[in-house]
Amino acid sequence: MVDDPDVPGDFGPLRMIDAAAPDALSHRLTAFAPKGRRRLLAYEPRLPTTDAVAPYLRQIDQARMYSNQGPLVRSLQTRLQSSFGLVDGSVVTASSGTAALVAAIMAHAGTATAERPYAVCPAYTFVATAAGASQCGYQPYLADVCEESWTLDPDRLADHPLLERFGVVIPVSAYGRAIDVARWAQFQRDTGVKVVIDAAAAIEAVADGAMTCDARVPLALSFHATKAFGCGEGGCVLWPDPALAAKASQATNFGFMGSRNSQSASLNGKMSEYHAAVALAELDGWSAKRADFGRAARAYQAAFAQAGLPAEDLLTTPHVASNYVIHRCTDAATAEALQSATDLAGVETRFWYGRGLHLHDHLADAPRDALPVTESLSGSLLGLPMGSGLASAEIARVVAVIKTERLRTAAVEDVPFPDCASVPATA
Ligand SMILES: *Cc1c(COP(=O)(O)O)cnc(C)c1O
Repeated sequence: MVDDPDVPGDFGPLRMIDAAAPDALSHRLTAFAPKGRRRLLAYEPRLPTTDAVAPYLRQIDQARMYSNQGPLVRSLQTRLQSSFGLVDGSVVTASSGTAALVAAIMAHAGTATAERPYAVCPAYTFVATAAGASQCGYQPYLADVCEESWTLDPDRLADHPLLERFGVVIPVSAYGRAIDVARWAQFQRDTGVKVVIDAAAAIEAVADGAMTCDARVPLALSFHATKAFGCGEGGCVLWPDPALAAKASQATNFGFMGSRNSQSASLNGKMSEYHAAVALAELDGWSAKRADFGRAARAYQAAFAQAGLPAEDLLTTPHVASNYVIHRCTDAATAEALQSATDLAGVETRFWYGRGLHLHDHLADAPRDALPVTESLSGSLLGLPMGSGLASAEIARVVAVIKTERLRTAAVEDVPFPDCASVPATA
């Protein structure tokens, strides 16, 4: 993903090139902002300023350590660990959320074997879940999600006919929603299949205690610029078992542990001191940023109420991570019509997880179950613009477009059809 800094003027959409499908991309390139109005992006990142990062960069100049568990990475790990209330050695930083996921899979489940070639991924997630599993040698196996949790259901998987072939199961905290980690630990004990949780967007659910860390199941978090807590590219593994967390750390560093002998499956997934500098500055400003997100979420709720739109159709923090505002539409046709309308009004909206992993070219042949919930859910959850710097007036603009589109749809439905019998047949 390419992240977009606040782009003044009308050229925002041209820079918004990301992992979208080619058709979605051409759609986006036609987008514009109405005269005199800034085009709003689906997410407007705001990371620490140069001034906020500078003191940390000076520490790098002094220490002349640039990677390999330098002082800033160690400090970041310690500060995160105490803010999550975890034991010493529970936090392992990584170069991205995907690298954290790969390291956690390698350390916990190991790489794929001939007997257990599959990594079970929810079909409704960001594609990184499956990409991470592939990097560990697994064939992603796409399972449907549950209507309530928006991710895998342990009870359904426990009875799966291919259970014996599963090497790892990767439930996802969809949109950063809290999931029941203890229940997944129980699934792991009952089935013998290792579980690694893709909690990429769930830093707030963990920090607020809505989701607990468990020594039996590692969590992978992302610090990508488009996540609530960001440092550009980065992430971490949360694993409150220091010996196992050390194995994840080893996996991020070529399998080295105390010597230059590679002793395990590995990658170079280490966080650099430069990224740690940004993450430390982000941590310094974290409570202020969260307050800003909270204000934006409340502005959305107020605007929905004022427009007479149903509150249950809007999901904001704390129900999802702060970087998302999700509008639940009746169905995919309604959501797509709304996306076209917002686009014309200079408001970018996004189906954050696309329409299911099975629709990506690279995963078209991945073995999978029937995916009815993924198919309906993925089309109805539309991401609205969010950002810690989003103004109430901009939020009101987004909601006004939604309201207008609803009224338009209702009016179109009210247009009477001519009675067919009264229309003369063509000669
Ligand atoms: C963001 C995200 C990732 C990937 O994190 P990166 O830091 O971009 O590698 C993985 N899974 C989910 C569900 C995500 O939202």
